[in-house]
Amino acid sequence: MKKIVVAIDGFSSCGKSTMAKDLAKEIGYIYIDTGAMYRTVTLYCIRKGLFSDKGLDIEALRQCMDQIKISFLLNSHTGRPDTYLNDRCVEDEIRSMEVSSKVSIVSTVGFVRSAMVAQQQEMGKQKGIVMDGRDIGTVVFPQAELKIFVTARADVRAQRRYDELKTKGSDPVYEEILQNVEERDRIDQTRAISPLRRATDALLLDNSDMTIVQQKEWLFKAFAEALERAK
Ligand code: C5P
Repeated sequence: MKKIVVAIDGFSSCGKSTMAKDLAKEIGYIYIDTGAMYRTVTLYCIRKGLFSDKGLDIEALRQCMDQIKISFLLNSHTGRPDTYLNDRCVEDEIRSMEVSSKVSIVSTVGFVRSAMVAQQQEMGKQKGIVMDGRDIGTVVFPQAELKIFVTARADVRAQRRYDELKTKGSDPVYEEILQNVEERDRIDQTRAISPLRRATDALLLDNSDMTIVQQKEWLFKAFAEALERAK
């Protein structure tokens, strides 16, 4: 059976990862969360003390780039891949508010982006992959057979992130999360390299008022049609 590349881009906390993971699992494709990769580089920068009042020490990061090894390993309990930094699982740490508040800065850095993009293109060489991020349909796989651009209202996205953090046992502040979501939208859309934008041939999905079930139906239909077209 022919395999295709599914590129899912969109705003932060709009449920891209959940839908991408579910689709990949169902169709037996590899799932790659590229946001997790930028988050992992950010965590490395925090641990190394590369952030100060003056911002990120880009030159120091450049020197360390080859010491950052990112990998994914399937978690048999959750059935989903966990993210590893230099062979240590960092799946929970990379979702913290501290990482969320700094990741958009790290992802504006050109050499970070080119290292991540090269790794992502390598992972998708054999196709049969669902990848989500900000620049997958525009930069990483401009030839992807199925491109989806996901969005939802900022308040809806902040509420989802709030619920997610709450479930994980932390004590989030809604206003802080909303601010973070809006700030990341701003940085992601206005950065000079690979800004977040909808590829002209991407299908638009606004899931603000959709249930998970409705979204799933929409996605599977889009996938089936793309597969049919690729035959
Ligand atoms: O998807 P997630 O919200 O985890 O992504 C975290 C951040 O990583 C985004 O806000 C964005 O700044 C960056 N990112 C990116 N390019 C990607 C994926 C994520 O710049 N392909």
